Amino acid sequence: MPSRTISTEAVPSSVLHASLSIEPPKIVRAEGHYLHTSTGTAIYDASNGAAVSCIGHNHPRVKRAMSQQLDAVEYCFAPHFTTPAYEKLAKFLVDSTNGHLQKVFVTGSGSEAVEATIKMARQYYVEKGEPERKRFIARDRSYHGNTFGALDVSGHKARRTIYEPLLSGSTSHVSPCYPYRDRRTGESTAAYVERLAQELEDEFQRLGPQTVCGVVFETMAGLTLGAVASVPGYLARMKEVCERHGALFILDEVFAGMGRTGTLHAWEQEGVVPDLQTVAKGLGAGYMPIGALMVGKKVVDVLDRGSKAFMHFQTYHGHPLACAAAYEVQQIIRDEGLVENCRRMGEYLGERLRARLGAHPNVGEIRGRGLAWAFELVKDRKTKEPFPVNQKVAPTIHAAGLQKFEIALLPGGGVVDGVNGDLIVLAPAYNINREEIDLVVQRTAKAIEYVLGPATQNAKL
Ligand code: PMP
Repeated sequence: MPSRTISTEAVPSSVLHASLSIEPPKIVRAEGHYLHTSTGTAIYDASNGAAVSCIGHNHPRVKRAMSQQLDAVEYCFAPHFTTPAYEKLAKFLVDSTNGHLQKVFVTGSGSEAVEATIKMARQYYVEKGEPERKRFIARDRSYHGNTFGALDVSGHKARRTIYEPLLSGSTSHVSPCYPYRDRRTGESTAAYVERLAQELEDEFQRLGPQTVCGVVFETMAGLTLGAVASVPGYLARMKEVCERHGALFILDEVFAGMGRTGTLHAWEQEGVVPDLQTVAKGLGAGYMPIGALMVGKKVVDVLDRGSKAFMHFQTYHGHPLACAAAYEVQQIIRDEGLVENCRRMGEYLGERLRARLGAHPNVGEIRGRGLAWAFELVKDRKTKEPFPVNQKVAPTIHAAGLQKFEIALLPGGGVVDGVNGDLIVLAPAYNINREEIDLVVQRTAKAIEYVLGPATQNAKL
């Protein structure tokens, strides 16, 4: 395993992901689905950072919209002014939920959207006269962002532990919906869902139901569990438990939302509507930093009648340039039928990945939905035993992808928490075609086989 040799002078190494074990390629140009390095390599961007650049790089329509916005107004202070750019984006988002979610609070990132959500949920209960509702229930091994509040709801130990105690410490975690590891042999979907619902119910009882403010789940567990879609009926049942106890049902769709799983909002496939929802990555497709908190009627009504404004102003909230870029990205997604393409190409990607690597002795599971897919890699396919963390399997595959096979993959899982297997996550752009999928599958397979050996032989490691 190569040692970490980062020497990128003034860039702090903490900016570079902990799993990166090689000198990071220097990207000097990005075009379509390719990242061009200073040494002349064109890397296929199959993970788009962390599921961000969903329409590819350097899109002329977005550049034009941003340039027009720069000519019109590049910045003004959202708490004091509104802009057509913010209004158009907010209306688009509200309409996209058929009006279930009624107000849109535009932030600068996914973490900030989660922070805003936590504060808004608390304020909702203060205004309702139930100020004792302060707690949140989230899920183990989840990730909701890296600021203190968002980290507090995150259940991903490796990301939390070093910073504990977190400031509020008011979140507890229940099991995620993670059939590959947690569903018992022979257990039906209904029985599995019931078991998880009972666990949530028990957690409410343990905390005292009247102390719980909200339940925060990802609709599809994206990066830290590796593209795990909820089993049918799971989210609806969780919402039922949550509503029975009067807590808010909050969905974090920073990863899963804005088309990635084959519908604009991933909850559309689950038969649930959240009270509060966050989106980010696919919203702005990387052209500007942006996230949003979308607020349901129940919360809007109480806050509108409330005694205090929502005290969450930040200098760059509702940034006009970010709003204009995101609005154009969303128009492109609509005009080019890209959500539908996510669904169709996602099925093809899943088929091709399974055909090429499904029989590999170290591939525990290949799973996904839409254009979010992941490999869970294990030492032993039968027992599902993960590789030891210090073997750094996913980072080594990631490095091989970058250095030898010209593909950018996203490593995760065992590499950071040692609980599940190593993960390789794929999140290609929504406008990928079949030929590009074939290329992604071929390069990904080569990177995996380079490290673990070919599908027909035992693993090298
Ligand atoms: N929630 C989820 C589900 C995420 O995947 C992420 C980012 N990986 C975040 C929140 C935080 O978003 P950001 O990195 O934009 O702050």
